[in-house]
Amino acid sequence: MTTAEILTILQRDIHSAVFATLDGQGLPQTCVIDLMLSDGDGLYFLTAKGKSFYDRLMARPFVALSGMKGRDTLSTVAISLRGAVRNMGKERLGEIFEKNPYMAKIYPAAKSRQALEVFQIYRGEGEYFDLSQQPPFRQSFSFGGQAVHQTGYRINAEKCIGCQGCRSVCPSGCISNTIPRVIDASHCIHCGNCFGICPVKAVEKIS
Ligand code: SF4
Ligand code: SF4
Repeated sequence: MTTAEILTILQRDIHSAVFATLDGQGLPQTCVIDLMLSDGDGLYFLTAKGKSFYDRLMARPFVALSGMKGRDTLSTVAISLRGAVRNMGKERLGEIFEKNPYMAKIYPAAKSRQALEVFQIYRGEGEYFDLSQQPPFRQSFSFGGQAVHQTGYRINAEKCIGCQGCRSVCPSGCISNTIPRVIDASHCIHCGNCFGICPVKAVEKIS
């Protein structure tokens, strides 16, 4: 899946995400924010200048967010990302109202929109996680020039002695039957069972 496709799912299908920012004491604060637009340059949302969320964004222009869709756990697609934010003022505000017509019910008159400003998440990285597939599917992604940050586990080929330990405890069946073993990161759920059981410490945690 391309990064553009993942951002489109986040913006169009999930649409409302929980955003985390830091307050003046360096403590996390969360709020639910709608994602109004997405394109090759990132994601766009808006807020009003009077909100404390606006103040937090301006003081520390960085967010972490998570959104999900699905009826229950086993139909869930979740996307999390963190990234750098910039204030765009009124730029693209008209387009946001045009493409999200429900906003006109919240801010009906042009005068009532004077406090609104647009923000862009212009650089970031994150993870797509699909529990509707078994084994679950995950994919890391990045945009705006950010490097992809891989997490999880890998097997050191030089140390692996080819026992069946890791394969016997892997809930996703994502460790190869080859010697040395190889983890298919796209289906690993990061439980750490393989890390704990390996007798020669061939499994390494990536952080
Ligand atoms: S961390 Fe868990 S899911 Fe991933 S390869 Fe190891 S045992 Fe399997
Ligand atoms: S438990 Fe360790 S040594 Fe055994 S197959 Fe897995 S990685 Fe290799």
